[in-house]
Amino acid sequence: LVHAVNVTKSFHGNQVLKGIDMDVHPGEVVCLLGPSGSGKTTFLRCINQLESIDGGRIWVDGDLMGYADRGGTLHHLTDKQIAAQRREIGMVFQRFNLFPHKTALENIMEAPIQVKGEKKAAVRERALALLEQVGLKDKPSAYPAQLSGGQQQRVAIARALAMEPKLMLFDEPTSALDPELVGEVLKVMRQLAKDGMTMIVVTHEMSFAREVADRVVFMDGGVVVEQGPPNEVISNPQHARTKSFLSRMR
Ligand code: ATP
Repeated sequence: LVHAVNVTKSFHGNQVLKGIDMDVHPGEVVCLLGPSGSGKTTFLRCINQLESIDGGRIWVDGDLMGYADRGGTLHHLTDKQIAAQRREIGMVFQRFNLFPHKTALENIMEAPIQVKGEKKAAVRERALALLEQVGLKDKPSAYPAQLSGGQQQRVAIARALAMEPKLMLFDEPTSALDPELVGEVLKVMRQLAKDGMTMIVVTHEMSFAREVADRVVFMDGGVVVEQGPPNEVISNPQHARTKSFLSRMR
């Protein structure tokens, strides 16, 4: 579903992604691990075209993201094309970014109505079902300020799912939460993985990665250092940089 080849990205001469290759298959859950500054967030943002890439190619479900290749020349896509592609991809951020003046239900209903032009009644049904799915059946009328961080993050997940994405990107979704609220968010993500959603998750939650990931990818210094099933990479890392990172996580 995601096919990335030799992706590079610099900010002001600082090369943050130094040629990332990555494939994610439909239904697969991939956890991206690595120290702060290794480029994990930047890579997720490139998949979603919140950043444009400098080189390489990213395809999502066969669509070339970010560039249109005509006659061998690179052309950036128009904003409209980018918006159409982004619709297929749900993203959940560290900070929940809910609309503060809208209720939980309105937050979830917003994009399908505004962006996709779907009928309100149908979207409402789906939004209520999504609230139930994330364990917030009784909170449709709550405003973000009336919800805990964990509840807000669960609304943010439901909001992303409301667009019926092919792919979900999670950027450290629990790192801004109080420790006691982490579990309820991971539980929703675990169920989503079980239901077959294709997910790329940047996380420092090793037990989640170990249990839920089909594959973990360890990044450091803008490259993929090693990858494989969690019981290999986390339990028996081969590369010195992976070993050092994991020993600091424990
Ligand atoms: P973290 O776990 O801290 O989020 P990360 O592995 O996700 O780390 P990135 O957030 O991708 O790493 O950042 C990689 C590098 O790119 C960092 O040095 C960061 O300062 C730099 N960077 C990221 N975004 C920008 C930007 N918009 N402008 C300039 N530099 C940036």
